[in-house]
Amino acid sequence: MGNRERMKPSLATLALSLLALAPPCLAAPYDFVLRGGLVIDGSGAPAITADVAVKDRRIARVGEVPPNSGPELDARGLVVAPGFIDVHTHAEGIVDHPRGENFLRMGVTTLVLGNCGNSVEDVGALFARLEKGGMSPNVATLYGHGTLRRLAMGGSFDREPTEAELDAMRGLVERAMHDGAVGLSTGLVYVPGTFSRTEEIVELARVAAARGGLYATHQRSEGDQIFESLEEVIRVGREADIRVQLSHIKLAGQNNWGRAEEVLARLQQARAEGVQITQDLYAYTASSTRIGQLIPAAAREGGPEALARRLDDPEQKAAIVAQMKTAVARRGGNYAYAVIASYRRDRALEGLSIPEAAKKRRGSDSLDDQIALIFEIERNGGAQGVFHSMSEEDVRVFLRDPHTMIACDSGIRVLGAGMPHPRGYGNNARVLGRYVREARVIGLEEAVRRMSSLPAEVFRFHERGLVREGYWADLTVFDPATVRDHSEFHDPHHFSTGFRLVLVNGEKVVENDSHTGARPGQVLRHTPP
Ligand SMILES: [Zn+2]
Repeated sequence: MGNRERMKPSLATLALSLLALAPPCLAAPYDFVLRGGLVIDGSGAPAITADVAVKDRRIARVGEVPPNSGPELDARGLVVAPGFIDVHTHAEGIVDHPRGENFLRMGVTTLVLGNCGNSVEDVGALFARLEKGGMSPNVATLYGHGTLRRLAMGGSFDREPTEAELDAMRGLVERAMHDGAVGLSTGLVYVPGTFSRTEEIVELARVAAARGGLYATHQRSEGDQIFESLEEVIRVGREADIRVQLSHIKLAGQNNWGRAEEVLARLQQARAEGVQITQDLYAYTASSTRIGQLIPAAAREGGPEALARRLDDPEQKAAIVAQMKTAVARRGGNYAYAVIASYRRDRALEGLSIPEAAKKRRGSDSLDDQIALIFEIERNGGAQGVFHSMSEEDVRVFLRDPHTMIACDSGIRVLGAGMPHPRGYGNNARVLGRYVREARVIGLEEAVRRMSSLPAEVFRFHERGLVREGYWADLTVFDPATVRDHSEFHDPHHFSTGFRLVLVNGEKVVENDSHTGARPGQVLRHTPP
């Protein structure tokens, strides 16, 4: 074939170019149509049967869509809801595991990182990395008070900050807010946050408030001192004039069970007094944190070596043990409620309760041997634990409250790794299956609202959280008759099922309970109102 021949377009090429040039009215008007689903728009309004069309990453039409308007999914019998927003995660691992599969496979399309006082140090750098590598869900973050306290106070935490340190801390919050953090978080049972006074938190919360951020807190007590603790939470909201998110609301310890109505009444009173306060919940009766949390914070300050030094001193050790015995006396007198979930140093103990593990490793499950084992674990780098410490009735009472969002408090899960709390695989699906369909604790529309528009409003994710024309096409399509979790405490590594389709910014990330590999997620930077 000569040169001249090659220059001439063939008929087929010509036809293709004409197609590409065809005016929009001849091309399919939409990228994607969900046909005839039960649309639950996230506002709490009753479900309606409607078509939903997506174009250019947005929801383009809710109502009737003519035939042949684009590729279709027959959504009859399925719920079409906004993608779920999980405001309480520890999913910093999204950088290394950008699929975020455990979240997407339970319908979650937006994650808020940085909870419980623990975040990345540099929000701008995190966002830059995520935008460079891409990720499947949308990501926002809080800035952690523990993180910034560690940065500003250099290793010695059991004290108030100096004026200069407090200034540095203010500067760090300011910087994080400028970089797009949605607010400040605290973890007031954790080192080093636990050593801070309310005044310090108010000071820092004011900086976040000035930029329209909110204050999310893992409060100082979720058990014996919960009412004193709530006073502090409310005081921060009032004095810093900031929206408050009470993290993973719960009543831990059998002696505190049955007081959920009282807790909610106090929160309601605070709202009546003008403090804007909402809360989130994971729908399980066990919590998850470090086994080391069973040791008093003052004993752990400075890290494992400092703890070891204190334990080498018989007098200090006796005092620490006595404190632990007093605390555990209120929890039934032993640590049977605490299960070792993930322990790098000794995998054989994973899945065992503290008494079982003490028996296995020390030959005795006496309280002294249980405590000795807890010390040993902490000295060996610590372990993750699951704590069976809540009542089913309290969980249900908290779930019914209209200000309760659904959030899992989980990190990114790696299939098969450790024995993590099942909430990271199942939380949203468990609410939809167990608490909506089976136990009828709340209605379906209301459950969806708590997973979508309520968090979007409070965290100010603009144009998300509703199935509404013009909004970003974050959508979760599930079968209300079959949606359910499969992750169990003794066998956690199972994804939820019943999710026919999950879209993030108009792109399929889950189809028929399997991840597509797409990475359409966006960084959601907070912008002042
Ligand atoms: Zn927490």
